[in-house]
Amino acid sequence: MRWPAARAVRRFQQRLLAWYRRHGRDLPWRRTRDAYRILVSEVMLQQTQVDRVVPKYREFLRRYPTVRRLAAADVGEVRRLWYPLGYNVRPLRLHAIARETLARYRGRLPEDERALRRLPGVGRYTAGAIRAFAYGHDAAVLDTNVRRVLGRVFLGPRRLARVRGEKAWWDLAGALVPRGRAYDFNQALMDFGATWCTPRRPRCGDCVMKPDCRSYPFPAPAANGARRAP
Ligand code: SF4
Repeated sequence: MRWPAARAVRRFQQRLLAWYRRHGRDLPWRRTRDAYRILVSEVMLQQTQVDRVVPKYREFLRRYPTVRRLAAADVGEVRRLWYPLGYNVRPLRLHAIARETLARYRGRLPEDERALRRLPGVGRYTAGAIRAFAYGHDAAVLDTNVRRVLGRVFLGPRRLARVRGEKAWWDLAGALVPRGRAYDFNQALMDFGATWCTPRRPRCGDCVMKPDCRSYPFPAPAANGARRAP
């Protein structure tokens, strides 16, 4: 994958952060830097929409406010509380993470990426989210929303079709994170993908990215003037 020029990266960062100041969502896990609370939110958000996660996130943390309390809980009870969110391997993993964190790290989630990824079910995305959102590291996050935004803005449909493998995406995401601003930048990128540059109806007409976006307008106009998605 060819890297975007430094000036294009800077413009993207500035536009995205300005967009976030205006349009960013007020979500309960954005009011904490506690690694455990951020972990809970990230695990809940896997496979579940934000509006369903918010009340369950609050309920879960009222019942299990710390790693220690979750580790001591009966796993069946944890699973029952989680149940309306579905995909029920997640509470089991979270419970296992709490136990391991207590046993190996005295109840404090580690900052190191390799240590985080040794915890049950913690992949590169979740490790990046904890490092950036709880510990302030310049770590990237890459989910389907982020990938869609980066693909549309920096690649466009033709170059996008030639990208192979995860590494190229992670390298691109990592190269875009502004030093010292990973928290806002990553939150902004996820919000922008979830609410603005959406899969089917991106708001291209009044988008801050359109001067540089390689997919503008999306979907691309067909030769006969009709709109077609690439
Ligand atoms: S111009 Fe359209 S496709 Fe490009 S980033 Fe904005 S919303 Fe997404």
